[in-house]
Amino acid sequence: MKCKFCGSSIEFDMHGNRSYCDEDCYYYAKLERNFNKYEEQKVLLQEFINTDKILKVFYEIYGSEKYIPSNLLEDGNMNWDIQTGKKEIDKIKVTVINQFGYALFHNETVVRIWKLKNSL
Ligand SMILES: [Zn+2]
Repeated sequence: MKCKFCGSSIEFDMHGNRSYCDEDCYYYAKLERNFNKYEEQKVLLQEFINTDKILKVFYEIYGSEKYIPSNLLEDGNMNWDIQTGKKEIDKIKVTVINQFGYALFHNETVVRIWKLKNSL
């Protein structure tokens, strides 16, 4: 059995068939279905997935309380120009990318990341 999104093999699951390795692949596949209506959006989809992955990596290291130097995210090719929405968390205006939100502070030198509920 292979993951329908990334193609990795999935171990047999006692609880029945799984189509994706984890909730990220499930989520990205869902995102992909929304994007695939338009061929020209495929590049953009990759940008969203890449940006989501960068936010995830740093969120898992720092959590949502710490200020993270924004050039660290830039090294991973963070795209600051895309968003899937806006949100306000604790009176802070947050840019939403898929399952994460972020806000820049101090002249955009540091960033805070929040994990949001999957909203697709
Ligand atoms: Zn997968």
